[in-house]
Amino acid sequence: MSEEPIMVIGVRGLPLICGGDDLPSLICGRISLEEGDIVCIASSVYSKAAGHVLPLREVKPGERARRIAGKTGEDPRFIQVVLDSSEDILLEYPFVLSELPCGHVGVRAGVDQSNIEDGMVILLPPDPMESAARLRQGFLDRSGRTVGVIVTDTCGRSFRRGQTGHAVGWSGIPAIRDFRGEFDLFGHVLKITEEAVVDEIAGFANFVMGESNNGVPVVVFRNCPPWTGHNDLYFRREEDIFRKILKKE
Ligand code: GDP
Ligand code: MN
Ligand code: MN
Repeated sequence: MSEEPIMVIGVRGLPLICGGDDLPSLICGRISLEEGDIVCIASSVYSKAAGHVLPLREVKPGERARRIAGKTGEDPRFIQVVLDSSEDILLEYPFVLSELPCGHVGVRAGVDQSNIEDGMVILLPPDPMESAARLRQGFLDRSGRTVGVIVTDTCGRSFRRGQTGHAVGWSGIPAIRDFRGEFDLFGHVLKITEEAVVDEIAGFANFVMGESNNGVPVVVFRNCPPWTGHNDLYFRREEDIFRKILKKE
C-alpha cells in the first residue's frame, strides 16, 4: 500500500469539446500528470472529440423504432439511433436495454442528448477499449507519463435507484481485482470475491464530474495502490442469468 493518501483531482477549465479536439493535449495543458495516475474521461467528451455524434434530422426511423417510441413516448429517431448502436435488444419497454458490440449492456445504449447542441445526440464510443488505449498513448506522448485510463459513462443499475459511473473502456489497469485464493483476517480462503475496481473508480469520478453544467469531464486519481486481476468484466453468455431471464432463453 502506497504511503501517500489517494488524491482525486477534477480537471477544471476544459473548453466545450468539438470534433477533432486533441483531448490528451488539452488535459495535459491543465494538469501535470504523474507516473501511475489513473485518468478518467467522460465518454460523452471522448465521443464529441472523436466525432461519434449525429444530428437527429438525418435519422430515418424504421418500423421497430416507431413501434417502440410509440410505447416509451420518445422521439422515434432517437430510438433508431439506440437500435443502430445495439447488437442485441434485451428489453424494449419501459426503456430500451441493449447490449453494445463492445459487451456493455446499457439503457438506451448510452446514447445521450445532454451536454450537446439541440437536435444532436452523442453515441458511446464504438470501441471504448481502443479509445482508452489511444488516450493512454496520447498521454504518454504529451507528458512522458505512463498512466491508466478509464472511459466512463453514467449508467443506471438493476435493483437500485440512482445512476452511477461505470467503466465502458479502460487501458493500462486490470478491470477486476481478483481476491480468489487470498485469505481473510480469519484465515478463510476467499472463493468468490472479484472486485470491479474500474467501476469503483468510475463511480467516484462520476461523482466529481456531476451530470449537468459542472464542466468537469476528466478526473485524475493519484496514489492508487496497484492491483492484479483480469479484464473479464462482462459475463459470458452462458453465465449471465439476468440476460437469460430477460430474453426468456
Ligand atoms: P457522460 O456521463 O459521459 O454521459 O457525460 P456527462 O454528459 O454526464 O458529462 C460529464 C461531465 O462532463 C459533466 O461535468 C459535464 O458538465 C462535463 N462536460 C460534458 N461535455 C463537456 C464539454 O464539452 N466540455 C467540458 N469542459 N465539460 C463537459
Ligand atoms: Mn452518458
Ligand atoms: Mn454523466
